[in-house]
Amino acid sequence: INILAIESSCDETAAAVVKNGRTILSNVISSQIALHTLYGGVVPEIASRKHIEKINQVIKQALSEANVTLQDIDAIGVTYGPGLVGALLVGVAEAKAISYGTGKPLVGVHHIEGHVSANYIEHNDLQPPFLCLIVSGGHTHLVIVKDYGVYEIIGRTRDDAAGEAFDKVARAIGLGYPGGPKIDKLAKEGNKKGIVFPRAHIEGSPYDFSFSGVKSAVLNYLNSCEMKKEEVNRADIAASFQDAVVDVLVRNTIAAAKDFNLDQIAIAGGVAANSALRKAMSDGCKEQGIKLCYPSPIYCTDNAAMIGVAAYYEFIKGTRHGLDLNAVPNLKIGQR
Ligand code: ATP
Ligand code: MG
Ligand code: FE
Repeated sequence: INILAIESSCDETAAAVVKNGRTILSNVISSQIALHTLYGGVVPEIASRKHIEKINQVIKQALSEANVTLQDIDAIGVTYGPGLVGALLVGVAEAKAISYGTGKPLVGVHHIEGHVSANYIEHNDLQPPFLCLIVSGGHTHLVIVKDYGVYEIIGRTRDDAAGEAFDKVARAIGLGYPGGPKIDKLAKEGNKKGIVFPRAHIEGSPYDFSFSGVKSAVLNYLNSCEMKKEEVNRADIAASFQDAVVDVLVRNTIAAAKDFNLDQIAIAGGVAANSALRKAMSDGCKEQGIKLCYPSPIYCTDNAAMIGVAAYYEFIKGTRHGLDLNAVPNLKIGQR
């Protein structure tokens, strides 16, 4: 079964062809990062316009790199939420047009379920149930993946998402957008014990997260250095901030795995590409005898391959969407 998958929820225009759920025949990503860097973040109107310009070419390229034509495709998978409504609409309209034109079924996919499904690509033996830490630009969730497409959310952030905190702190120390990869890189030159930033613990909700406190602590630290006319060490700030975030992510995730008796953890979303998180989670899992997996960096950040994987598991369960499929900017996990 071949799925043509389309992703346009934020600032990546992407298309992929996925065979039998786990084999990626092609994975084309046209990123708008350079464009949005000018403004320090994603400008929704510009994102939509760029998607329209790029989408046909990206799909064509995905088909040709996979060495298939639309005749070889069994279903069209598309992200229909959550995300920027104008950006989502471009992918959804395109997918509906292809579905209408070819008569092939349409399968709408939840973007975050796509991020989780990215783990299936390179871990052939990974099967539910497992615990997944979702850490992306807009989401931070701890979920139990009970079956393909069946999720139980056991924890979430009370304020900023992990990726959002990385991006905001990066901006504050002048690293620019997107901040996650830049902090990751700079932190390698810094001392993670250099500055002590707070680790939030939410009383009574051991699997929830909060990152606004650590973000404010970084801003306060910068302000106080400025007032005292002290030189700031940006690498130490990056390393210490990253350490604070990673500490909490690992602590809560491992605690949940033990409490729920799950011997397998996956990490998903853009922040899953973070080298310190991968290392610390891997050390923690080894200590507890828990199996860990995470996708290659290219499958951590936004891509259509992961959407194709999620669409495949929905397709074989019988999920079909009609031509009335609409973009749902605040789509909930598990909603069909
Ligand atoms: P969502 O998936 O919640 O809708 P999104 O699609 O914008 O949001 P992703 O594509 O999953 O987010 O990931 C982008 C985020 O990942 C950004 O916040 C970026 O800073 C962060 N990120 C990417 N690489 C790294 C890294 N190496 N270390 C830390 N953060 C990273
Ligand atoms: Mg992006
Ligand atoms: Fe994403």
